[in-house]
Amino acid sequence: MAQEPAAPQYVRPEEQRGLRRWKCKTCQFVVEAELLPFRCPRCGASRVKMEEVASG
Ligand SMILES: [Zn+2]
Repeated sequence: MAQEPAAPQYVRPEEQRGLRRWKCKTCQFVVEAELLPFRCPRCGASRVKMEEVASG
């Protein structure tokens, strides 16, 4: 009976760099940045319209 290898526990590069994803609720544009952007770079919406995207 062969044992299946454990699931890989690799860390994604963007997580190592501390990058997080922020989605604009106005235009659905996703920004990758360490911190919440001041404005949406696509539509210019205020940061209050940006929310963090939960990965996974
Ligand atoms: Zn936007």
